[in-house]
Amino acid sequence: MNTLPLLLERLSTLINQTVRDDAARHGLLPIHLLVLGYLGRANRYSDLPIAIAEYFGLTRGTVSQTIAVLERRGLLTKAADARHGRRVHLQLTPQATQLMQDTWMQRLDETLQTGPTGGSAAEQTLRGVLTQLQRLNQQRPFGVCQHCAHFQAGGTASAHCGLTGEPLIDDQPERICREWSAPVTMKTPAPAQ
Ligand code: SF4
Repeated sequence: MNTLPLLLERLSTLINQTVRDDAARHGLLPIHLLVLGYLGRANRYSDLPIAIAEYFGLTRGTVSQTIAVLERRGLLTKAADARHGRRVHLQLTPQATQLMQDTWMQRLDETLQTGPTGGSAAEQTLRGVLTQLQRLNQQRPFGVCQHCAHFQAGGTASAHCGLTGEPLIDDQPERICREWSAPVTMKTPAPAQ
């Protein structure tokens, strides 16, 4: 019997408990912490309220309330988009960045680093599983930029996005994007109708 589904369920439950504990320590709800974690890893196309709603499957009203709480707590700021007048980017404050230094994500990362392959074997397997489940789910997949079908490494020039044509500088290739698309080699056959 394949025990991987059971392991994943147990991990998921454990992570949920840890997120609840971490959030409670800071007087926050779990979704507040999850949104901060997401924004800390989102790229410039994805640090938007609509992207938060899509990523977590929340209503726009819930997202607005969450953003309002995080702003009041001094954990989030809004920045107008220089090119798209009504678009607002959400950014972590230094206080939020510091708060996120000691959360379940860091502890999980440290645990994975102690494994024989530093987590790379597990990462590859889990990425494939995630891609297949996202495909069945038929929602926006989201994913890390440098694993996207549109990512152009750029050789000696800087990396850029094949979808928007814009350069991807600094740590943008390592960030999560709502426009992410699975490379052909990761795509799986559509489920039978
Ligand atoms: S290459 Fe893909 S993931 Fe990266 S910015 Fe472009 S669309 Fe987003």
